[in-house]
Amino acid sequence: MSMKIRCALFLFIALSALARANSDIQISADYPGGNIIVESIDQASSTVNLRQDLRDTKPWWFYWNFKAKNIGGKKVTFKFPNKPKDENIMEVFGPAVSTDGGKTWRWLNPPDPRKKNEFVYEAPDGVNEAQFSFCIPYTMENFNAFAKEMRNDAFEIKPLCKTKRGRENICVVINENPTKRKARVFLTSRHHACEATGSYVLEGVMREILSDSPTGKALRQKAEFFIIPIVDLDGVEDGDQGKLRVPHDHNRDYSDTPIYPTVAAARAKLLEWNNTGGIDFLMDFHAPYIGAKSKDGKTFSINSVIYPVGQAVPRIFEAQKRFAKILEKVNDSPLPFLASDLLPYGKLWNVRKTNTHITGYSALLNGTKFSSSLEIPYSSCRGVQTSPESLKAFGSCVAKAMLEYLNTQSEH
Ligand SMILES: [Zn+2]
Repeated sequence: MSMKIRCALFLFIALSALARANSDIQISADYPGGNIIVESIDQASSTVNLRQDLRDTKPWWFYWNFKAKNIGGKKVTFKFPNKPKDENIMEVFGPAVSTDGGKTWRWLNPPDPRKKNEFVYEAPDGVNEAQFSFCIPYTMENFNAFAKEMRNDAFEIKPLCKTKRGRENICVVINENPTKRKARVFLTSRHHACEATGSYVLEGVMREILSDSPTGKALRQKAEFFIIPIVDLDGVEDGDQGKLRVPHDHNRDYSDTPIYPTVAAARAKLLEWNNTGGIDFLMDFHAPYIGAKSKDGKTFSINSVIYPVGQAVPRIFEAQKRFAKILEKVNDSPLPFLASDLLPYGKLWNVRKTNTHITGYSALLNGTKFSSSLEIPYSSCRGVQTSPESLKAFGSCVAKAMLEYLNTQSEH
């Protein structure tokens, strides 16, 4: 073989390898909230084998979030072959999918989404890349986009602390007429990094507080607000599970010696308020475990209903019952809520003996009048699909309920 032919052959092989590589399916998670481990990709059958990146979460957990490139014109099967038996890798309505770089999301809702714990995706015409996630993600980028929209002078973003991994975490303070003594409201979400639905609801609460609506105006007259939108900022940005970290997660860190700077800052604020008149209303937003499909359309698993978690302290539990009734009454969002879904202390998983979670910790402070976490399912609330819009609309109703609760507080 002459040198010329040899060179031409080499060039041909190199170019066809390059062309193949350019059209090969590629998986990535190197962006805020990303989480995946690729086990293998069979390009010939367009089959991708994946698993969750658990990092420092000790038991198996379910969160994953990745981008797939070069999927145009292919029927791609995404599989999680090594998931534990009896666990699901998808929510009731399947994975969340975005084809516009994470700007908008929908539930893929494939037929029998959890039969094999795999899903098949055929990209629509013109789409060559998509992002898939266990849930609709919410990172600091979402919060920043929301904050940019806000025009109210009472809305302040303040530095809170430097996180363990060196990020600057922030808090939101809303305090119109700061010299006036008002009720005190403490709001948090993302003690568990993967629980993004809580963030959408909290954003809805903040939007209502800051709006020109009668509720917004009345709430700003009635109360001052201290809000930590993303407690586990490192976990959210790095795409960690965040739940059940070793040695413990952010919502088991409310002790005399917190290991997470954001929790130390939150705890300091709680103690400051407790020592100067108390906390009128504290709410911590979460998402539960993976939901389940209703068999009869009437009864739902605890993980597919919105529910407050009942406190062990009787007077706080009474206050939660009162709030839940108000919330059921004022809720006109697309997402159903029933006061009877409030989970009393002592039932199901709600049997914790320790009080190192923020709501348990604050319920034991003698100046606290109300303290509750609120669990918001990932995809299905009593059979109704969640979306960023419906979750925010529900948040707006939480704000309305909060106002009515605070307005009638002295009567109780
Ligand atoms: Zn949680």
